Amino acid sequence: MKLNRFGEYGGQYIPETLMHEMSRLEKAYAFYKEDPDFKAQLAGLLRDYAGRPSLLYYAAKMSRDLGGAKVYLKREDLNHTGSHKINNVLGQALLAKKMGKTRLIAETGAGQHGVAAATAAALLDLRCEVFMGEEDMERQSLNVYRMQLLGTQVHPVKTGTRVLKDAVNETMREWVRRVEDTHYVIGSVMGPHPFPRMVRDFQSIIGQEARQQVLEQEGKLPLAVIACVGGGSNAIGIFYDFIPDQEVQLIGCEAAGKGLDTPHHAATISRGRAGIFHGMKSYFCQDPEGQIAPVYSISAGLDYPGIGPEHAYLHDTGRAQYVAVTDEEAVTAFEYLAAMEGIIPAIESAHAVAYARKFAPTLDKEGSIIICISGRGDKDVAAIARYRGVSIYE
Ligand SMILES: *Cc1c(COP(=O)(O)O)cnc(C)c1O
Repeated sequence: MKLNRFGEYGGQYIPETLMHEMSRLEKAYAFYKEDPDFKAQLAGLLRDYAGRPSLLYYAAKMSRDLGGAKVYLKREDLNHTGSHKINNVLGQALLAKKMGKTRLIAETGAGQHGVAAATAAALLDLRCEVFMGEEDMERQSLNVYRMQLLGTQVHPVKTGTRVLKDAVNETMREWVRRVEDTHYVIGSVMGPHPFPRMVRDFQSIIGQEARQQVLEQEGKLPLAVIACVGGGSNAIGIFYDFIPDQEVQLIGCEAAGKGLDTPHHAATISRGRAGIFHGMKSYFCQDPEGQIAPVYSISAGLDYPGIGPEHAYLHDTGRAQYVAVTDEEAVTAFEYLAAMEGIIPAIESAHAVAYARKFAPTLDKEGSIIICISGRGDKDVAAIARYRGVSIYE
């Protein structure tokens, strides 16, 4: 397999002006990922600042209720800033610093990645500017203010449909305009090589820990590992160390929104086709002319028309399966986990919980499954109340 691809997917579809920077980044990353000092510094930040390792929690009540395989939750919601995003931004921010960069730029949809990037920038003394669709800024004003508190400047993106994909375009343009002192912290396993590999490596700590933890607690590997998929970083992060374990099923849950038979979903694998966008070849939701289609999910973090190229490859080769979960199923799972285990998951993560609720009862009681709880649900409480027709004071 070519280093910059996963089968036919991935690659580096970028403007000429970025070629030089991309090869600098590739070289710097190849060097630092083997550098003992870099590794020790990152491990220190992940432990002392982000709060790793995250717990692998045996959900006894949920397991009993479902009556099948034992259910374990990988608690990325307990990380600083409330999701797995911090794993990636600390890695990239530290790398940027080593490369002599003084400024980070980032795209954000719901603001989760923007907040994480702003956090890492504050900690590591880097300037930070975040590009966010105007539409998203209105929907997520709390996260806009949060980024400002952290010392980050938020730029409204007024092009296209003024959402995440437009923010990615604008951040890429800004990088082309000003590359010398600037690193673009991409928020998921997407974009041109080396980002899909680099982000995967930074997130693979999730699966390294989970694999070791489940072996300690169960004495054997799980039957399945289940995670939600937007761009795919928490999923590939928890899958990666289990890929060689052929007996472990890897299941990604994408957003079926209002249903796969409506235009209102973000189910890239179920309904998308291969194409080239945002610097990579992968699966994308497209209209019949091949234009990127507008996507929808109740969960802002899954509201992306593409998927990381490594997932496209894992899908084609059959090593991972991808299923689609509707808004309604995810909201019900959100409420279920809150009431059952006292854990309010991010609505993104609730997509994985929803599938696990259907899947666990079909499995042997002696076996186990791991669900990646990619983030905490505080940010979603108001939206869920609205979905249920409850009006609460925000
Ligand atoms: C951003 C986000 C996601 C989706 O991103 P991936 O790259 O697919 O992991 C999922 N869960 C939470 C909590 C998020 O913040």
